[in-house]
Amino acid sequence: MLKSPQNRADNISQMPGILTSETVSVAVAVPIAGAYDYLQPTGTLQAAVAGQSAAGISRGTIVTVPFGGRLVTGIVMGAGAGGVAPEKLKAIHAVAPVPTLNEAFISFIDRVAAWTLAPIGAVAKMVLSQPQALQRPPQTTLFTPAKVMPDGIRITPARQQVLDVLGDAGAMTAAELARMANVGSGVISAMAKADMLTGMQVSADRPPPPPQTDRPSLTLTDEQKAAADIMVAACGTGFHSFLLDGVTGSGKTEVYFEAVKAALDAGQQVLILLPEIALSSGWRSRFERRFGVAPVEWHSDIGNSQKRKAWRYVLSGEAKLVVGARSALFLPFANLGLIIVDEEHEHAYKQEDQTIYQARDMAVVRAHIQKCPIILASATPSLESWVNAGKTGETPRYQHIGLPNRIKGAALPAMTAIDLRQTPPERGRWLAPPLVEAIAARLAAGEQSLLFLNRRGYAPLTLCGSCGHKLVCPNCDSWMVAHKLSGQLRCHHCGHRTRPSNHCSACGQDDTMQACGPGVERLAEEVLWRFPDARFAVLSSDTVGTPKAADAFIQSVIEGDVDIIIGTQMVAKGHHFPNLTLVGVVDADLGLAGGDLRAAERTFQMLSQVAGRAGRESRPGEAMLQTLDPENQVLTCLLEGQRDAFLAMEAHARSLAGMPPFGQLAALILSSHDEKRLHATLRRLDQSRPHFTGVDIFGPAIAPIGFLKGRHRGRLLIRTDRSVDIQGILRDWLANFKPDTGVKLQIDIDPYNFL
Ligand code: ADP
Ligand code: ZN
Repeated sequence: MLKSPQNRADNISQMPGILTSETVSVAVAVPIAGAYDYLQPTGTLQAAVAGQSAAGISRGTIVTVPFGGRLVTGIVMGAGAGGVAPEKLKAIHAVAPVPTLNEAFISFIDRVAAWTLAPIGAVAKMVLSQPQALQRPPQTTLFTPAKVMPDGIRITPARQQVLDVLGDAGAMTAAELARMANVGSGVISAMAKADMLTGMQVSADRPPPPPQTDRPSLTLTDEQKAAADIMVAACGTGFHSFLLDGVTGSGKTEVYFEAVKAALDAGQQVLILLPEIALSSGWRSRFERRFGVAPVEWHSDIGNSQKRKAWRYVLSGEAKLVVGARSALFLPFANLGLIIVDEEHEHAYKQEDQTIYQARDMAVVRAHIQKCPIILASATPSLESWVNAGKTGETPRYQHIGLPNRIKGAALPAMTAIDLRQTPPERGRWLAPPLVEAIAARLAAGEQSLLFLNRRGYAPLTLCGSCGHKLVCPNCDSWMVAHKLSGQLRCHHCGHRTRPSNHCSACGQDDTMQACGPGVERLAEEVLWRFPDARFAVLSSDTVGTPKAADAFIQSVIEGDVDIIIGTQMVAKGHHFPNLTLVGVVDADLGLAGGDLRAAERTFQMLSQVAGRAGRESRPGEAMLQTLDPENQVLTCLLEGQRDAFLAMEAHARSLAGMPPFGQLAALILSSHDEKRLHATLRRLDQSRPHFTGVDIFGPAIAPIGFLKGRHRGRLLIRTDRSVDIQGILRDWLANFKPDTGVKLQIDIDPYNFL
């Protein structure tokens, strides 16, 4: 006997705000689409759709609508905008069997679209990224004993066992029941057939186990406790934003876990954003130790079935805690009570393709709309957050909470510069004598060293020693990078690959091609040559391609299988290597070149992070920076541990130039396979430029990488004072501007990438 389908969605009490208008506005999940009006479903259709109650459609209802000859999903944003005669409109096709998105979330979707100037359909597409989550989940049958046992039924011992098990445990699947009662599955089906058991259809998915908040935690230091208390007190009292500013190894994670516990204890959901695509095993095991369960994860490395479940349980409120990459910000939390953005300064929070957004900034917007606290954590805060914390004399918008000391009293690493002009390495080598000596001393003491060079592959450039011809990518304005391990030349922009040859295609000579400059693979060669007995390993996205492999690598370092680690920025992040006492930065000047607004800031952050890997436990650490320019102010601040002075200097420079965060920037990027059309569009865009006070428009110019992935590119940069409505200006300007066919226009509000 099967009861009518019971599904969570059926039981959702209807939210207030049923739309009674004849038409509703739907944000269809199509990247280039706006919102469109649709007719409300008719009475009969509505009753028939997907088990939804017939009470009506409200803002936040997820629907399927006909669009461009197919059915697409969309989100009801409100009453129809009007302007089109109702008889010309199509009707909503179906309502998805899931709860309605809440008002705060719908407002958030609106705000993201308004801020990024992305079409609302592009934002809807990010929200509805899991179409399978909108279907009825796979079903299973749970059995309970019949309320009234049918007459004349024989209760065999086996049947009695089944009833006893159910008496203790409530509803179960046939398989569970057979196992627990230790009977054959035939017994269960016979009992169901005889109406001794009642079957009930439910979702086969099981909600994730809730985090346990009553487990023992580490005893916080006084400093940690003071910080935690402030944030815990803010939970449940509306919007608060905190900048948790703690040196590497100060125990920030343990501190924000206390706020997580407070929000969970109040029955709310928590979102933790991390910049990495996948969780490090260190973070995961710390979470599991603290909360007794695995967190619900959301990033590109988890499978669709896991994502489908996560999405649904976030919406039903049963997934209490989600740890994810930036896209987790677009999950439909039912009852969000706290957001944490760890490593808030990381540029990985900026999404650069499709809808361009800065997840850290949008997280603050979401917390504000949701009226919940948000914690931005970092050892090297972004200048934006530093200014927002009132550190440059502005009115504070974030509360600054400092953790200036390392746990266990470990000192921060001593930093020194190696002046490459005075003590250069031998020709064709990259490690200078002082660094080589320091590594040798660590080897003798049984301690680990880390060599940091943010360059994948063997050599960034290959050229002909005879004619000077450089190997460049056919699709991009960039050099082909030599990769010796894989025996290839690769473009790091578009992924183009070729086989190396010793023959110069320009002058025709043989054996003239030379590798110039070092990448991590070339450093490994030098390490092998200098320290043939040392165990070394290279960590870059080429050598460890998957998060699992990266984890295994980190674990082997922690277990002491490696003496010298050679790595790109992958090693700079959050890892805790107890036995690592020396960090050598092979080229501290590398990130400072170029016209990037945040080059100095990024270099400072990256080098602080990588230096922070040294000496995190009892043995003191040391960081050595190889440079051709030790007087450079970025490096002097770093060497003297003057982080705040660096931020002040950087703030001053940006403020003078009216650059973010003291002014606003936006980039308009035009690209096309067809160079002529690109230039025609650029010219038209330039001619239509508006003129306002407090607004500067630079360009149009060919982009620094004028040819990328086979597309020609040009850009305009718009700078405005802070008081100017930059989105308003762009909206008006571009409302009537249509690029030539085959030319793509992208808007990047607050660009991080100046390529
Ligand atoms: P951060 O994120 O600030 O660099 P972590 O939160 O990673 O620091 O903490 C660094 C290390 O110190 C971790 O191994 C963590 O488990 C440990 N730790 C943090 N707080 C405490 C504490 N109160 N007592 C003991 N160990 C702690
Ligand atoms: Zn390329």
